[in-house]
Amino acid sequence: MKRMITHVDAYTPEGVQTDVSIYIDGTSIQAIGRLDEPIRDDADEVIDGQGMLALPGLVNSHTHVAMTLFRSYADDVALMDWLQNHIWPAEEKLTDELVYWGSQLAFAEMIRGGTTAFCDMYMHMDAVAQAAVDVGIRGTLARGLAGVSPNGEEALAQNVELFHRWHGAHDGLLRVMLGPHAPYTCPGEYIRQVAATAKREGMEVHIHLSETQGEVDTCYEKHGVSPIAWMEELGLFEVPTLAAHCVHVDEQDLDILARRHVRVAHNPRSNLKLASGIAPLTAMQEKGIVVGLGTDGCSSNNKLDMFEEMQLAALLHKGHLQDAFAVTAKEAIALATEGGARAIGYNKGLGTLQVGALADIILLDRSGYHWQPCYDVTSSIAYSANSMDVDTVMINGQPVMRHRELLTIDIARVREEMKKAQQYFATLQK
Ligand SMILES: [Zn+2]
Repeated sequence: MKRMITHVDAYTPEGVQTDVSIYIDGTSIQAIGRLDEPIRDDADEVIDGQGMLALPGLVNSHTHVAMTLFRSYADDVALMDWLQNHIWPAEEKLTDELVYWGSQLAFAEMIRGGTTAFCDMYMHMDAVAQAAVDVGIRGTLARGLAGVSPNGEEALAQNVELFHRWHGAHDGLLRVMLGPHAPYTCPGEYIRQVAATAKREGMEVHIHLSETQGEVDTCYEKHGVSPIAWMEELGLFEVPTLAAHCVHVDEQDLDILARRHVRVAHNPRSNLKLASGIAPLTAMQEKGIVVGLGTDGCSSNNKLDMFEEMQLAALLHKGHLQDAFAVTAKEAIALATEGGARAIGYNKGLGTLQVGALADIILLDRSGYHWQPCYDVTSSIAYSANSMDVDTVMINGQPVMRHRELLTIDIARVREEMKKAQQYFATLQK
């Protein structure tokens, strides 16, 4: 199928190109240019982009999509209390069906807000994969692995099966990583086993690292080193790794991350809400560490809104460092697009509007008052735009939202399923 978006302004690596056409063949962008340039016009479908701004789809580089089920379930609680006394007991009651519909709700929210790819770590992952395929959203999935749990071995085997079943499936829409949850839920021997499995299978790893000061202090007490230094000792970073959070890191930790090419998912809103702290994003950037942005699970956020995450990243570090040059508008957009794509394992060809890149494209409607006037498009994207400006979304060359109408999700059914889920989990709280 060939598609063409016409008369659109496009945010490209060379800057904003005005009144161009984007020609898409199959899953990738084949040409970007003016109609009077030699650009093919044999498209099966033409999408009128008049007045719109085309951006690469946003990448949510760390989340737990089915945790939409626990939105507002336990708020204003510290991380360990939140996990041990609220979230983990509720998660024991999850089923494939609940996770499937929780994932569909997440995908509706993400697509509505311009997110076209996500990187997930959770359980009942076949249900997440099926929901992603049914919706047509790009996902990198990992089975959350807690080595301390009695089913640690079984979960690792399930994660490998998930990889064999879904990695590269559906025109490359899905990828699968191994998901050791965190150093405080995985003993050293288990991490070694995960690293060996990753090497044997050719898999990457997605883990939470150094999220709270308490995690770091406990790791020093038990192992004499930081979580990041401990993971390096155990050989985890010998395989390509995505580390979520990295809030409490020192110079030595940052050097390890840089040297080992560990990619980082920065989750500013979740870190603020759970009172974990502020990750040293600019120090990571200075070391050349690849960083993407994530919402984390929406039970600790409580949204899956990448425009908000991008804006928070741009503002938070300026205020925190008292440096107006920290995380510029352009850098904030890069974190939410190309940086996220690299963080979740796409070395190139995702998160950017250029020839040869995957056709994950969003069109922003700029008729809102908050877009007027617009002296600098980059600045308006980073500081003014919001998720409700998103008009049309294409993933892997397929339209999934047109004029704000979700094309692949039965939203009435999703609402019905959420009503049932809320009743079920509310009775558990009593
Ligand atoms: Zn997380």
